[in-house]
Amino acid sequence: MNTLRADIDALIAGLPIAALVIGRDERIHSVNDKARALLGDNLLERHFITALRQPVVMDAIEACLRDHRTQTARYLGNDGAQDTTFDVHAAWVEFAGLSGVLVSFEDMTHVEQAGQMRRDFVANVSHELRTPLTALMGFIETLRGPAKGDAAATERFLGTMYAEATRMERLVRDLLALSRVESEERIRPQTDVDLAALVRSVIHLLRSVSDEAGVKIVEDIPDAVHISGDADQLRQVTTNLIENAVKYGGRGKTVHVTLTTLEYDPTLRRRAVTLAVRDEGAGIAATHIPRLTERFYRIDSHRSREMGGTGLGLAIVKHIVNRHRGRLRIESELGKGSEFRVILPQ
Ligand code: ADP
Repeated sequence: MNTLRADIDALIAGLPIAALVIGRDERIHSVNDKARALLGDNLLERHFITALRQPVVMDAIEACLRDHRTQTARYLGNDGAQDTTFDVHAAWVEFAGLSGVLVSFEDMTHVEQAGQMRRDFVANVSHELRTPLTALMGFIETLRGPAKGDAAATERFLGTMYAEATRMERLVRDLLALSRVESEERIRPQTDVDLAALVRSVIHLLRSVSDEAGVKIVEDIPDAVHISGDADQLRQVTTNLIENAVKYGGRGKTVHVTLTTLEYDPTLRRRAVTLAVRDEGAGIAATHIPRLTERFYRIDSHRSREMGGTGLGLAIVKHIVNRHRGRLRIESELGKGSEFRVILPQ
């Protein structure tokens, strides 16, 4: 009997998931380490009801003990850091004269989380699209009804409608960019890109935007800096960072764009290029910094929307930087401004 127990112990110890065996006497005969980690120590010889207190799991085991048919249930736990979800299988086994229920726990936490993220994402996108859409419908109704034939109102409303439609267009464009970057994330870009020329051309293109915002852009960029990359995506990174610095930097302030090469970067452990975009705006509180690259995360949604932001810019930046095997660093001090640094391998 004891050697048989040892055999069963050895068998379930080899399983990659939490598992335990319950005998006909309804007591726990064998437990592996993963099950101990999930359910606690001192499970051996205990009645299963005292160890597995969740009713659906107990029902499944009871049913399996009764009619020897496989049962499934969900076990909901918490590992101290997060809620966890397990698919529980209770299967009747007969093994070298011993019989009982093999209970195994398949960790479904990451699947649940992915599902939740997808649901949140769809809810966010729907919400973001609905706001301008509702505004557009309101204006159309007004133009067909109360404001019909009023040339001045028509002109004014058309202007606002155009702005709302532009906002929707920008959101769809950013969503497509994000999905494209995500799908290519594992493919390392290999084209030779002169990052110095690219950054200069982005600054040149953004000149009218910064002039309009009353922000000065000061650049410190070497003649040429070559890296392997995807020029379109690097242009997008540069644009998003400088646009943000201009948007959140504030009128009358300066944005500093610096490109430097580093013989040896300790985190990338190789030669690297750093693109730094620094503003003199209100800065970002430390609690927000780790979340800025989440999709739709904004410190002040109203302000971001007012400035035509989609809340996706930094999420796109992060994915592109990852694809280039680089790092994004954000440093900020309230009242002093922020610095976004992209470090790319050279
Ligand atoms: P958005 O379209 O809202 O600008 P981003 O993903 O580019 O979206 O940025 C997310 C949020 O991070 C912004 O809403 C803003 O609150 C904050 N943020 C980004 N850049 C800066 C900056 N340079 N200074 C202060 N806050 C910033």
